[in-house]
Amino acid sequence: MQAEVITVGSELMLGFTLNTHSQLISRACVPFGVEVTYHTSVGDHPDRLAEVIRTAHSRSQFVFLCGGLGPTLDDLTKETLAEVLGETLIEDKKWRLRLEAHFSKRKTSIPTNNYKQALVFSSGIVFPNEKGTAPGLSVTKDGVTYILLPGPPSELKPMFETQVLPFLNHVIQSKDVIYSHPMSFFGIGESALEEQIKDLITSNDKLILATYAMDIGVTLRITVKAPSNELARELIEPVRREILSRVGKYCYSEKGDSLEKVVIRYLGLNKKSISTAESCTGGLVVHLLTTVSGASEYVKGGFIPYTNEMKENIVGVSLKTLDEYGAVSKETAQQLAEQTLQKFRSDFSISVTGVAGPTSSEGKPVGLVYIGIAQEGMSTDVYELALSGDRERIQQSAAKHALFFLLERLKKGETTI
Ligand code: ATP
Repeated sequence: MQAEVITVGSELMLGFTLNTHSQLISRACVPFGVEVTYHTSVGDHPDRLAEVIRTAHSRSQFVFLCGGLGPTLDDLTKETLAEVLGETLIEDKKWRLRLEAHFSKRKTSIPTNNYKQALVFSSGIVFPNEKGTAPGLSVTKDGVTYILLPGPPSELKPMFETQVLPFLNHVIQSKDVIYSHPMSFFGIGESALEEQIKDLITSNDKLILATYAMDIGVTLRITVKAPSNELARELIEPVRREILSRVGKYCYSEKGDSLEKVVIRYLGLNKKSISTAESCTGGLVVHLLTTVSGASEYVKGGFIPYTNEMKENIVGVSLKTLDEYGAVSKETAQQLAEQTLQKFRSDFSISVTGVAGPTSSEGKPVGLVYIGIAQEGMSTDVYELALSGDRERIQQSAAKHALFFLLERLKKGETTI
């Protein structure tokens, strides 16, 4: 069976975007016995796209079309394909409602242009898009199956893995299962992670390794097609182990769990309690922890000492420290954590103090954050971070870093659970 990948977008032709979709899709086709024989990139130009589609139609059984499903006038992939195939596009009522819900959630009215994203092939299949407004589509004509995917990698990758691969498996009538193993990372960026495991991504024909940048953190999924789940796990295991030996210190879950859930699990395993003193995160760390059921057994509570007065009077940071080093300092973070540990009589405590922005404070830059981790009978660690983004992002990132540093303490070199 022959396939080809057509990537659509003028940004590809101008060299602004590196075409990573062709690589991902071609590698994923190998285990299915589907041979990708052509990669074509074409700008947002309907006549040229139509020409490329006609050629593909004459020589391939599967054609992947990536990009050009957006709401703007130059997004014409499905319209062009419909015209070439003589197929009609109809409005998918469900997708229209989803679009309206998507915009009303953001408290904006839906731009008229976006309604075209609800148009689907009357005789085709829709792949819901969990990350954006353009659904993926499939239509088959004259024995050629077209699979249309949105251009943004953050939308294409999860859709491809969770929906298109099982669809492909079904179309080629395979009895195999598609098995996927998630690994959640924190403290390492998507490209740095890819760099560390580049050889593993390209060296194994049976496994598909794909990274996804999440709001905060990165997920790596190892996907395999195998006769059973058990055999799939066997195929994945050596690669999984190799990944852990290289970047295991950043991996906090292999079950798709959130960082806070893993922290609570570790507190439970160690039978330890936690308290917090949060200034710039305004209680976000303790909030995240309390979203996990069972947290009440391990979370004692927290201070939100937003002003210096409260840092001094409620938590017990010395005036001298506040005057000499400021509220956003290593010294204040250390005292916040240690005083909180004592006051709550907990086994661990976390402190967070920093500049969430948008303006600097105490002459210190936006994004400067100190996190203290105190532990009964142990010395206190204080971490200095230079975070970027808007106020909300800095707060979210600081809170997640605090949880991750605590987890490092709790794990003491163990692998993930
Ligand atoms: P939208 O217009 O709503 O963003 P779309 O489906 O029309 O969605 P495109 O406009 O084609 O998508 O691309 C959107 C984003 O995806 C751009 O940031 C682009 O750089 C990136 N992108 C598109 N094609 C590729 C590709 N082949 N490889 C990597 N990134 C791509």
